[in-house]
Amino acid sequence: MEEQTKPRHFIQRFIDEDNVSGKFENRVHTRFPPEPNGYLHIGHAKSICLNFGIADEFGGKCNLRFDDTNPIAEEEAYVKAIQADVKWLGYDWEDRLCFASDYFQQLYDYALSLVSSGKAYVCDLSPEEIRKTRGSLKDPGNESPFRNRSVEENVDLFNRMKNGEFPDGSRTLRAKIDMAHPNMNMRDPVIYRILHAHHHRTGNDWCIYPMYDWAHGLEDSIEGVTHSLCSLEFEDHRPIYDWYLDALEVYHPQQIEFARLNLSYTIMSKRLLKQLVDDNHVSGWDDPRMPTLSGLRRRGYTPKAIRNFMDDIGVAKRDNVMEMAKLESALKSDLNKRCERRMAVLNPLKVVITNYPEGNDELLDAINNPEDETAGKRQVPFGRELYIEQDDFMEDPPKKFFRLGPGREVRLRYAYFITCNEVVKDDNGNITELKCTYDPETKGGNAPDGRKVKGTIHWVSAEHAIDGVVRLYDRLFRVPNPASRDNFIDALNPDSLTVLNDCKMEPELGKVAIGGTVQFERLGYFCKDPDSGENTIFNRTVPLRDSWAKIEKQMLSGQKN
Ligand code: ATP
Ligand code: MG
Repeated sequence: MEEQTKPRHFIQRFIDEDNVSGKFENRVHTRFPPEPNGYLHIGHAKSICLNFGIADEFGGKCNLRFDDTNPIAEEEAYVKAIQADVKWLGYDWEDRLCFASDYFQQLYDYALSLVSSGKAYVCDLSPEEIRKTRGSLKDPGNESPFRNRSVEENVDLFNRMKNGEFPDGSRTLRAKIDMAHPNMNMRDPVIYRILHAHHHRTGNDWCIYPMYDWAHGLEDSIEGVTHSLCSLEFEDHRPIYDWYLDALEVYHPQQIEFARLNLSYTIMSKRLLKQLVDDNHVSGWDDPRMPTLSGLRRRGYTPKAIRNFMDDIGVAKRDNVMEMAKLESALKSDLNKRCERRMAVLNPLKVVITNYPEGNDELLDAINNPEDETAGKRQVPFGRELYIEQDDFMEDPPKKFFRLGPGREVRLRYAYFITCNEVVKDDNGNITELKCTYDPETKGGNAPDGRKVKGTIHWVSAEHAIDGVVRLYDRLFRVPNPASRDNFIDALNPDSLTVLNDCKMEPELGKVAIGGTVQFERLGYFCKDPDSGENTIFNRTVPLRDSWAKIEKQMLSGQKN
């Protein structure tokens, strides 16, 4: 329902128009073109959902294309990780796994044809000299002294560049366009540079590598892409995208720009994320605090939640910043439907039920998921000794505190009413144990005499509980826009990870599969970590309460960076 009433965004309308005019013979073919120089982040998910989503919607196709034209930063391991992430999000490129490096010969041949038609030349200026002669937004650039070489000389020099006769940086191939062009990208841009570097797929076959602007449009053209969706910073590159395709008289896809996804309190640049990994500020690309897809997965995010979020926020033409609370809210509504409920105590306080027969225990029915009847029930062991949360007891409680206190009665979830009669302390005055009595008549959580209690708390049986470790995560950065800082490392939140080593968990939690997510009642959603071996380790995916909304409200109400 909702999807049908949602207004169509500008890219959908663009394609609608092309389908009316028959511009691409009603074909829709998109691509997601990551450079394999790092792991994908949540920003990439926007592009993935958009490109694959548009293809699905119009009955078209979407390629996964690795834009591997820069051998220095690229690695095979990233290629694998990126494929795993796209699959995890639920998208399928079928047999259309493409690599820019597969087109190196063709890209070279195209360049040669540009040289032959007098539209490109070999330039002997150094990168520094090229930069200096580009001019500025106000002033035109200066033409290179090598601009008017003959076609024969250019063909010869370009061949020799390719054959490895010249050192790195000594020459480039440049398009011959216009050094006074108001768009700086059109001032004789570099097409090829010399780089004697090993490429993860083509080895040492090439020592010249194509520049992004040259390669990208031609890759789109070679693959028969119709709509080449890219982020806004490429708007200024569209003239050069078009110029190359027109100059070569080849099939011409349409580039369309959209606003990239920005999220508050995080960074979205593979370069910066890599720095966090390399300098050990996080445990790896998949650290659950990272905004990478592998980090989010390990944290307990679901593909559905991410896709729903992308659907909710839509596609914009202007840059904006999304609130993390919005992503969390999409996550919680998905987890609420799919996660079974369990009980775990993060900061245990021992409770002894003095009137419960010694040596006895029993199994009590507990509902697995109130949102999903098919999830059924399970049985939770109950006994004379229990653990409750330290927070759920106060010796001198204020009026609004409805949990346990001396002389007070509360409900133990799925179990009985208990009353606290005595507080046991150690020599330092720390509370070590509560002595309570239970009312056997209140089994299941209701009193036959109709008396009410205001609080319900969770618990586990001391005898049956398993030990567990819980990792609590807070935002990775202390400020809304860390990337805007001179040094984003300074903005890291020193308290982004808290490890609780002495948690007590109901036995069922030992059986949860790695990567499985459950709701710990009253505490939040938690995901079993791959580090779990002997130990049971859960990462907190998200608390039940809206932690981000609170943070972001504080920020809006005038708190500074
Ligand atoms: P990064 O700065 O993180 O390296 P990138 O744009 O250089 O990002 P690419 O591998 O080139 O990374 O990106 C692949 C595709 O993902 C591109 O089409 C790019 O526009 C898109 N993309 C990257 N970041 C975002 C974002 N935050 N929102 C939307 N699309 C994005
Ligand atoms: Mg890039």
